[in-house]
Amino acid sequence: MLVLGIESSCDETGVALVEWEGATLPRLASHALHSQIAMHQAYGGVVPELASRDHIRRVLPLAQTVFDEAGKRLADVDVVAYTRGPGLAGALLVGAGVACALGAALNKPVLGVHHLEGHLLSPFLSADPPEFPFVALLVSGGHTQLMRVDGVGDYDMLGETIDDAAGEAFDKSAKLMGLPYPGGPWLAKLAEQGDAMAFKLPRPLLHSGDLDFSFAGLKTAVLTQAKKLGDELEARKADLAASTQAAIVEVLLKKSLSALRDTGLKRLVVAGGVGANRMLRQQLDAACAQRGVRVHYPELHLCTDNGAMIAMAAAMRLQAGMQRPTDVYAFDVKPRWPLYSLQESSQATEP
Ligand code: ATP
Ligand code: MG
Ligand code: FE
Repeated sequence: MLVLGIESSCDETGVALVEWEGATLPRLASHALHSQIAMHQAYGGVVPELASRDHIRRVLPLAQTVFDEAGKRLADVDVVAYTRGPGLAGALLVGAGVACALGAALNKPVLGVHHLEGHLLSPFLSADPPEFPFVALLVSGGHTQLMRVDGVGDYDMLGETIDDAAGEAFDKSAKLMGLPYPGGPWLAKLAEQGDAMAFKLPRPLLHSGDLDFSFAGLKTAVLTQAKKLGDELEARKADLAASTQAAIVEVLLKKSLSALRDTGLKRLVVAGGVGANRMLRQQLDAACAQRGVRVHYPELHLCTDNGAMIAMAAAMRLQAGMQRPTDVYAFDVKPRWPLYSLQESSQATEP
């Protein structure tokens, strides 16, 4: 089986081909990505209208690239998958529209994929894929969730952020320090030259006794600290970045360990853009090694948005018999779409 996957939920246009036979784990045949980051940087964030227009420009040439690289033709595709949500409505409509048009033209069924399920299952594309069941730490630009995962589509929420996501905490703090958008990777880089103990920043909900997160207060504390530093901020920026990163990482680490303890599971899967953070990886690796827990990550270049994870999520759903693709090409997108609602709709015939 060959699945073409299209991702266009935000500021990355991603297209990929994933292939499998029988019960073998689907594998990536090829993928291509165009990031709009440079285009949005001038505005300090994503401009939805510009994002949609750029997806339209990029998606078909990217598709051509993945077919060329995999040595496949459009006619070889069995199912066309696209990100149905959550994300920016106009941006999602581009991927959905192109996917359904291709499906209709090729007379092949289509399948709408949940973007977060894409992130969640992306570690299955790595050289060291996980096995079910596991605890998942999903840390992206818009989400921070701990889940118990027993299989494809079998997700139990253990805790989530009550305000900002971890990626947002990185990005907003970075913005306060005058770093480019999206600030996460920039802040992480600057932090390497700083002292993580330099500033005392809060670890919100660290001792709350549950698995929920909160990062809004941390951002406020960084703002207060930046104001206090005034002219000195420039000279102390690396220290502030290091202290901010340490606060975010400590909360993510401790809550993940609590989730592992509570569930008794010995496997942790980290997914989403913040999963690329080196300090987070180092600390999780060290703490989990001590506890006999295996940790799995997506390949570094597949942590942030991409088409491979969408094609993979579709492939794993199809393989698990969780969802039938549809040949009804009337589509809608779901800009807001909680992951837990997948549970109920998994067996449904709707796209
Ligand atoms: P969602 O998936 O929740 O809809 P999104 O698609 O915007 O949101 P991702 O693409 O998964 O999120 O991840 C982007 C986020 O990851 C940004 O907030 C970015 O700053 C952050 N990020 C990427 N690399 C790093 C890093 N090395 N350290 C910290 N944060 C990082
Ligand atoms: Mg992005
Ligand atoms: Fe994402």
